[in-house]
Amino acid sequence: ATIAGLLADTARRWPERPAVVFREQGVRWTWAQFQAEVDRLAAGLAALGLQRGDRLGIWSPNRVEWLTTQFATARIGVILVNINPAYRLAELEYALNASGCRAIVTAQQLRSSNYLGMLQTLAPELAGCEPGRLQAQRLPELCFVIRMGEERTPGMLNYGEVLARGEGVTPQLLEAHGAELDCHDAINIQFTSGTTGNPKGATLSHHNVVNNARYVAQAMRFSEQDSLCIPVPLYHCFGMVLSVLACVSTGAQMVFPGEIFDAGATLAAAAEERCTALHGVPTMFIAELDHPDFASFDLSRLRTGIMAGSPCPIETMKRVVSQMNMREVTIAYGMTETSPVSFQSSTADPLERRVSTVGRIQPHLEAKVVDGTGAPVPVGEKGELWVRGYSVMKGYWGDEQKTRLAVTDGWMHTGDLATLDAEGYCNIVGRVKDMLIRGGENIYPREIEEFLFRHPKVQSVQVFGVPDAKYGEEVCAWIVLKPGESATEDEIRDFCREQIAHYKIPRYIRFVSEMPMTITGKVQKFVMRERMVEELK
Ligand code: ATP
Ligand code: MG
Repeated sequence: ATIAGLLADTARRWPERPAVVFREQGVRWTWAQFQAEVDRLAAGLAALGLQRGDRLGIWSPNRVEWLTTQFATARIGVILVNINPAYRLAELEYALNASGCRAIVTAQQLRSSNYLGMLQTLAPELAGCEPGRLQAQRLPELCFVIRMGEERTPGMLNYGEVLARGEGVTPQLLEAHGAELDCHDAINIQFTSGTTGNPKGATLSHHNVVNNARYVAQAMRFSEQDSLCIPVPLYHCFGMVLSVLACVSTGAQMVFPGEIFDAGATLAAAAEERCTALHGVPTMFIAELDHPDFASFDLSRLRTGIMAGSPCPIETMKRVVSQMNMREVTIAYGMTETSPVSFQSSTADPLERRVSTVGRIQPHLEAKVVDGTGAPVPVGEKGELWVRGYSVMKGYWGDEQKTRLAVTDGWMHTGDLATLDAEGYCNIVGRVKDMLIRGGENIYPREIEEFLFRHPKVQSVQVFGVPDAKYGEEVCAWIVLKPGESATEDEIRDFCREQIAHYKIPRYIRFVSEMPMTITGKVQKFVMRERMVEELK
């Protein structure tokens, strides 16, 4: 199936059931209404002359226009390029040019970032041009800037004007666009989170993401009776595939608490909309569980959900089960390059396995754990995880060299360290890049993090290596304490003594108020490492 076909099927089956809620924007649509909005926008984009294979960027936090754009572009075969809402001038310029976007749909602003202003700075030519005739020196391929909201901005079209242009497009013409599509066409360039450096643009097909979403929905036992609360960003594969496409493939309702993550707004949305499922990365669940008003929200309808995106602390998983009633919660593991999920636990797995592993390989995918030469390691030993099958990306957009390094013989090198046990349960140990070697000992930060996380004063903790003249690398821990707590370095070290090997006890401990994070809520250890290197100079 194609992405648009998925929506059409659901809209035919459950036209009157609730489909989409954007609380901040006050939008509530049924599946039929959602489909109608998508068709209007698809007609508008077609009327602009956008065609199959053209690229259209979207730069926005979670707004309903994001969803309509996702499905409208898919309907006419235009490749959607999801641009990180945290991007600023240089990154925006790079993303638009690297993917050769002909059009961009943009929000006006997000908090202090003025998106329109940034585009005007990059393309001052906008001021004097007719909409659609942009010829900007720094953005040579960009023709159309489509802004959200009703105001008019020189050189740009607003969303409503695009809809108006589509009014003359007949349903037959729109169908003709759809009929040309092949499910193996590229339909999406998704950028990775940028956890380890610069984000990379993975090219994905309908086939990649639609099938992945279906298996995810199956593992969660999703149906049209479910209602999913979605605080994760749409720009990322977690929101786009695990949340949106999984709902669209089953008729489950999508509830968006707000433009960007807020723990209180998420809890309120889950309670007031009577959600049965909740998604999030670990940092989001932690913020929700520790929210001062947590006890006042009625989460009794929650049944399931997914925690994914980075290592999921066992303690947090247990609290999600016991305090949020999410008894069927699963962990999913994946990466943008594999559309994204490859491992997922399921309700059939015993709870202990579900909270402590990422589950087993998805149907129709295969996995192996290899050593530095690419040879499989014995069962239970650590190595790099490789994944192969239908969900592996077509490649990094416009970067064959990087693709060749990342994918060999169809095997995606995940860059993650993992173990696979005899029954196929997978444990993610950390990233290959994050493993540190201190005086010849391999140290896995995740293990130390899990241990320190048990300290009653610790709210969150990150462990990483910093260069050291004597040992090669030394262990450093950054700790965020629970509100109102204070602690000393020695206190933390005493907690470790006799409990973990001496060489794993952090040499450097820093108490911080927050960790540097990507907009997907992932901690950027490379930023922390840079800061420590600077401090220790
Ligand atoms: P970049 O590739 O730009 O550095 P990124 O790898 O974080 O960023 P994503 O594709 O968003 O970009 O995330 C995939 C990565 O997230 C995986 O390779 C893995 O390291 C981590 N991850 C995802 N799910 C889990 C999980 N359940 N447990 C542990 N790690 C996870
Ligand atoms: Mg990655």
